Amino acid sequence: MVILSLLLLAIGGCQSPGAVTYDQMPSLSPVALGQGERLQVVATTSIVADVVRNVGGDRIDLKTLIPLGTDPHTFQPTPQDAAAVADAYVVFANGAGLEAFLAGLLESAGAGVAVVPVSYGVALRQFEGGGAGGGEREGGFDPHTWFDPNNVIVWTHNVERALSALDPGHAGVYEANAEAYRASLQELDAWIRAQVAGVPERNRKLVTDHASFSYFAHQYGFEQVGAVFPGYSTLAQPAARDLAALEDAIREFGVKAIFVGNTVNPALAEQVAQDTGTRVVFLYTGSLSEPGGPAGDYLAFMRYDVEAVVEALRET
Ligand SMILES: [Zn+2]
Repeated sequence: MVILSLLLLAIGGCQSPGAVTYDQMPSLSPVALGQGERLQVVATTSIVADVVRNVGGDRIDLKTLIPLGTDPHTFQPTPQDAAAVADAYVVFANGAGLEAFLAGLLESAGAGVAVVPVSYGVALRQFEGGGAGGGEREGGFDPHTWFDPNNVIVWTHNVERALSALDPGHAGVYEANAEAYRASLQELDAWIRAQVAGVPERNRKLVTDHASFSYFAHQYGFEQVGAVFPGYSTLAQPAARDLAALEDAIREFGVKAIFVGNTVNPALAEQVAQDTGTRVVFLYTGSLSEPGGPAGDYLAFMRYDVEAVVEALRET
């Protein structure tokens, strides 16, 4: 297929080779699609892919890079992934620093691949909390923007804009799809508000496997008081003193549960739960479940997690 040379770096010409900046919007031009040919697009995570699928509908041919259940922070792409990226008109990434592998992947895929960071325009948040396994040592921002459906509404605008720029002939389809999906996201937001209203104020304290809930906490009135892995990713292992500080925080705040995601090894969280007399509660975090499973799409994913959080933290 024809690879159009798309402008990746709109500004900033002084990066060293390999230091690809992808948190900017690429400028996209219409592609020449053959009769019946669909737009070849790639998404990084299954969550990004689900949102892209909702906007692109049957006008796109979508490949997801990160397999279900795989941690996006530590994912290692294969040569086949590089080939898929090289064949695509656009790559949809979460952005905000989630995909550590992306710069290397783009380098192996060759020049001219446009990356749309779907979180572009989201007000990025930093970890709020004490020294209990927080991300303050790392600096940087929480990349887990999808834990607030209002951020995913921003994603839909970015996806709609990108697909319409590449395929202006179907801009009306992308717009209608995006509008319909945004209505579902607004409904989800209202549903979450109604659910969390059942959690008493004093119980609205989140301890998670890694600092991934700042958008959810901010939007729905929770406090992220600690995390098992220090920082926003699962790349750094906690030191013994970090775990001791976390256990102190769990006892001090009377935290009722430790939430552990489907893409993280739960062993450490189980140890902390045992030490502090709390329990581990499973959530979907970095990936959807199998299609048709409990978190087969983004809307189901959020509903599953919110129900699990409410169930664990409400008074029994
Ligand atoms: Zn994460």
